[in-house]
Amino acid sequence: METQWITLIGARQHNLKNISLRIPKGKITVFTGVSGSGKSSIVFDTIAQEAGRQLNETYSNFVRNFLPKYEAPAIDAIHNLSPAVVVGQERLGGNARSTVGTISDIAPLLRVLYSRFATPSLQTANMYSFNDPQGMCEICEGIGKQLTLNVDTSLDMAKSLNEGAILLPGYGVDTYYWGLYAQSGFFDNDKPLHAYTEEEWQQFLYGAEQKIHITHSTGEFNGTYMGLVYRFRRALQQQKELSEREKKKREPFMITAKCDACNGSRYRPEVLASQLHGYSIYDLSELQLTELSKVLTNFTDPQMEAVITRILQRVHSLIDIGLGYMSLNRETATLSGGESQRVKMVKYLSSTLTGMLYIFDEPSTGLHPRDVYRLNDLLRQIRDNGNTVLVVEHDADVIQIADYIVDVGPGAGIHGGTILFSGPYEQFKENGSITAQALNTQTPLNEKPRAVTTFLTSSTSSLHNLQQVALHVPERVLTVVTGVAGSGKSTLVHDVFANEHAEAIVIDQQPIHTNVRSNAATYLGMMDKIRKLFAKENDVEAALFSYNSKGGCKECGGNGSITLNLSFLDNVERVCPSCRGERYDEHVLAYTYNGKNIVEVLAMDVEEALQFFSAKDIVKKLQTLQLVGLSYMSLGQPLSTFSGGECQRLKLAKEMKEDGQLYILDEPTTGLHIRDVATLMNMLHQLVDAGNTVVVIEHQTDVIRQADWIIDLGPEGGSGGGHILFEGPPQDLLACSMSITAKYI
Ligand code: ADP
Ligand code: ADP
Ligand code: ZN
Ligand code: ZN
Repeated sequence: METQWITLIGARQHNLKNISLRIPKGKITVFTGVSGSGKSSIVFDTIAQEAGRQLNETYSNFVRNFLPKYEAPAIDAIHNLSPAVVVGQERLGGNARSTVGTISDIAPLLRVLYSRFATPSLQTANMYSFNDPQGMCEICEGIGKQLTLNVDTSLDMAKSLNEGAILLPGYGVDTYYWGLYAQSGFFDNDKPLHAYTEEEWQQFLYGAEQKIHITHSTGEFNGTYMGLVYRFRRALQQQKELSEREKKKREPFMITAKCDACNGSRYRPEVLASQLHGYSIYDLSELQLTELSKVLTNFTDPQMEAVITRILQRVHSLIDIGLGYMSLNRETATLSGGESQRVKMVKYLSSTLTGMLYIFDEPSTGLHPRDVYRLNDLLRQIRDNGNTVLVVEHDADVIQIADYIVDVGPGAGIHGGTILFSGPYEQFKENGSITAQALNTQTPLNEKPRAVTTFLTSSTSSLHNLQQVALHVPERVLTVVTGVAGSGKSTLVHDVFANEHAEAIVIDQQPIHTNVRSNAATYLGMMDKIRKLFAKENDVEAALFSYNSKGGCKECGGNGSITLNLSFLDNVERVCPSCRGERYDEHVLAYTYNGKNIVEVLAMDVEEALQFFSAKDIVKKLQTLQLVGLSYMSLGQPLSTFSGGECQRLKLAKEMKEDGQLYILDEPTTGLHIRDVATLMNMLHQLVDAGNTVVVIEHQTDVIRQADWIIDLGPEGGSGGGHILFEGPPQDLLACSMSITAKYI
């Protein structure tokens, strides 16, 4: 069959230089090129954008009101487009009710299984859902957690009741509430709490309601004894009527803990009692997916076969994509960006729609080199189901599964935006582009690692899957923490180590939450200084140079765009005709500094700005941006347009402090071209040379090979992981036969 092509003619979105391009349908096309070269501008902001827009136009105006709004991309024409699904790295988020089971559509299948075959059988499938009032635990309403008393902060274990052991507000010695415990007759009021017997302790915290007689300076009362935990919780339920100040006062004494009515299972007791081969629906959802697969394979009853097959299909897809260490109960809000993307992928894999256009954004994020082949299998499968697959990716192993390559460049920003190569993968390898060259070379192993002398340590932990391990981070060197996905890296580095080293500078990939009007210059605190320079040179006030303040365009209020409300039609976002999107009032543009007005200055990229400014503090900030590989970014670029990897590097630029710090970075190479990885590594080495301690969680072999010290977790993900397999310099890792990472560096 003849190949069909998606054709782009005259694309000019962002930095694209009026490019035309063909992409084969029914194939995998990988987009490569340095960061900022224009890959996303083609794939997301032109192709996906136009596909979304055209699809929306097929709906009635009424329906369109509920759909996301798509602006037409800057392009002359696109031919032969298919409906597009963008599978990005946005975290799945969601509330506490959203789990891997609900999002992968496995939970409803399990409910079908239990409603038909479990004993005792509960008549309705809804009862097997913790999101349904019929199935949910009544106490926590299906959340599995509840707000309760924080025993650690509420009690002074060294003191007796007479000495004021209860620290809660309102429970001081001789108060009415104190009397409910001290005059209950259950306790020795001079005995410190740490000396209580188990029985006394239970009575104190969880004793049942009963009448007691107490005396107080104001008289005698009949009171009700009730364990302190229960009394506190009842008070919490009444909190709704308390003033904000009262609530604040109680906050330090509260903690979110497992619901003790359902023991965290979220279900009613009847649901837990209803079982299949000795497992409740909750038991199955708690199992690691690799275990779940084994258990379900043993459910061989012929009537169940059809449902079991469908469940296993999805479970296996999740395992195949390297998520075998998860359980169905895992809350989606706790998944990383890479994990979220892979869960979404599985959802699409089970779709029977064909002729779709699937677009992936660096799907290798968070995956150990060992698991990349599984990802590749999945991408191939989606293609072979009759779809077109577009992937933006830097990982050499993913690039090599491409049927077709589009290499964008040569540089970033205005230095990019052209197509360096487009054609079959085999031809690309012979090509002289930076990407092709980089694919053929490997970073050497660090043969002269810095000397290791002292260590920062964490406590020994068994959080999540950790097997009683502690992290020992050598000071003033570059440490890379490795291991397959789910082996416990984040748990050990973030949840244990960083948590205990409060002064650490932790730089993650979470989006930066600030005002929608923020840009790179305001975020880094450069904007104030630039405004002052303009003010001084022109002898006017600095507020004039802020589009959020006096300088803003009167028409659009400094937004740069205007929303037109056309009552019967869609609302339309339009570039403001008055300021042409520049956000400033026209009269502000008459003022210049060094011959440029404020709009021209904000349009400069970091390189240009470095040539332009001489003020020390501004130059220093610009140099940090250069260091973190963001020199292609323009000063006025809105924060909302930064990718996860770019956000991380921007945060790093902001957070860099005087020397002698502890830095923790989570996969800082996300979104980085191989060339940019070298820049990043230079920066990390400079940080270390300046006397800082740097810890990086990373899968990129180029980074691992450059470490002074490697800590490898594993061997597998989930319950098969959680051990430290190796700690030492890169050379020695090669000899560690247990380590999966050793095989890849
Ligand atoms: P890549 O995906 O190759 O890293 P992008 O397509 O994201 O590159 O960026 C190409 C250029 O377009 C960069 O200079 C970037 O700063 C700029 N750019 C990206 N998004 C926007 C936007 N929403 N508005 C203005 N410029 C943008
Ligand atoms: P890595 O960072 O190496 O990919 P993680 O530390 O994220 O590994 O995960 C290690 C184990 O802990 C996995 O089995 C994972 O499912 C589990 N885990 C991680 N975070 C949570 C969480 N918030 N709640 C429950 N389990 C978690
Ligand atoms: Zn409960
Ligand atoms: Zn305007």
